[in-house]
Amino acid sequence: MTTITASEEQRVLDNVPKRLYIGGEWRDGSKGTFSVEDPAIGEPLCEIADASADDAKAALDAAVEAGAHWSQHPPRERGEILRRAFEAIIAREDELALLMTLEMGKPLKESKAEVAYGAEFLRWFSEQAVRIEGRYAVAPNGQGRLLTMQQPVGPCLLITPWNFPLAMGTRKIGPAIAAGCTMVVKPAQLTPLSMLALAKILEDAGLPSGVLNLVSATSSGETMGPLIADPRLRKLSFTGSTEVGKKLMEQASDNLLRLSMELGGNAPFIVFDDADVDDAVQGALIAKMRNIGEACTAANRFHVAESIAGPFAEKLAEKLGAMKVGRGTEDGVDVGPLIDQSQRSKVTELVDDAVGRGARPLVGGHAREGAGYFYDPTVLADVPDDANLLREEIFGPVAPVRAFDDEDEAIAAANATEYGLVAYVYTSNFKRALRVCERLETGMVGLNQGMVSNAAAPFGGIKQSGFGREGGPEGIQEYLETKYVAVNL
Ligand code: NAD
Repeated sequence: MTTITASEEQRVLDNVPKRLYIGGEWRDGSKGTFSVEDPAIGEPLCEIADASADDAKAALDAAVEAGAHWSQHPPRERGEILRRAFEAIIAREDELALLMTLEMGKPLKESKAEVAYGAEFLRWFSEQAVRIEGRYAVAPNGQGRLLTMQQPVGPCLLITPWNFPLAMGTRKIGPAIAAGCTMVVKPAQLTPLSMLALAKILEDAGLPSGVLNLVSATSSGETMGPLIADPRLRKLSFTGSTEVGKKLMEQASDNLLRLSMELGGNAPFIVFDDADVDDAVQGALIAKMRNIGEACTAANRFHVAESIAGPFAEKLAEKLGAMKVGRGTEDGVDVGPLIDQSQRSKVTELVDDAVGRGARPLVGGHAREGAGYFYDPTVLADVPDDANLLREEIFGPVAPVRAFDDEDEAIAAANATEYGLVAYVYTSNFKRALRVCERLETGMVGLNQGMVSNAAAPFGGIKQSGFGREGGPEGIQEYLETKYVAVNL
């Protein structure tokens, strides 16, 4: 791999449509434009359309209008549009990865992995589109028949975060298209470019006008509030922070919208004394450092058996210390910048708080001087109970390590959080593995592996990590209603 040139970067940026996509037309935003920044240098990349509340309403109008025919569109054809889009993404993997690195900062190899992961949802749901089924049953008294059918929910609002600019979109768009729903998509203001590129790919793949409408905006509350209050909207699927998710849930209660809430996390990573320490360190590296630690699934706390906590922390520090930090477009870079100054300040505060309370940095512990929002990969040993980063989502390359004495203590520590998205468990004892998986209060568990994401599996959380599942056979159910017909024979 060689370092990308400035003209290659410009070409990729030039290829992205920069306007709103409403009813099959690319149009200007009523509020002018806003700029998207490269977090590695802190400078603008390009300007894109800024939508007003009226633009958002026009997007919902288009979604409502397209809904009647789209819900009747043959499922096979809905699937084939998704399949063509999947293939187009794979064919343009390098270009889309570069675009993602420019707007979000992660190293190119990680952007490529997200492009492949994001595309996979379109392939998976292209296969699910033709598997929407109902039931026919004889009523228990033998007198009538019970018919159930599954129908599209209707117009959906899909709101996504900045940390996975493509995959957080395809996890919603794929099943919505497969189910026969129309939609308004609102990407994160910080990273809208990948979603704009995706909208163009879906248009080129033959998605009819109005099925997907894209609205980029600087004022998310002002543009989205009226849509959530509009009685024509039927569903809101949101990925983002728990704080915003709760607010939106409150707003959505007026119209009793169907909801999917993919919210924040605080994942524990548990290593038992019977685990292979090198394997666990390798898994920890993935669970912590994927996406520069800016993932809802990022391991937020490492709970390690007392007898191996020291060697585990030392080995992890050695690995993190060897990672190359830099702009994601540069050759050999492992760790890119954080998304912005406010995210970096939050990470700095959390680390300073832990160190102030007695945690011991084995490596890192500082923001980098100079342009961009870089923070050094950090391992903290002997993290005390009252350190804030044990309770809050860190969203950065920081690994706090704590020791535990026995299984009960490990599980109690893992569950001592309001969040419940994912946990990671390393053990070679099969009975213990199942016992612990059953007792963890999370929607997902990585058992002897540091990553759970898979388009064929149900991704989602419990507790304050939200509800609803994306991916797997469950994913399309979020976009379907069950209708029961009582048949008199
Ligand atoms: P955020 O909650 O700040 O924003 C998410 C989206 O909501 C953005 O598009 C934003 O513009 C929009 N938004 C914000 N306020 C709004 C309002 N009042 N009305 C309508 N829309 C509004 O989150 P973020 O900082 O973009 O993303 C990071 C968070 O996302 C983390 O907490 C992370 O854990 C979470 N996340 C969860 C998952 C999951 O699947 N559970 C996946 C990725 C990220």
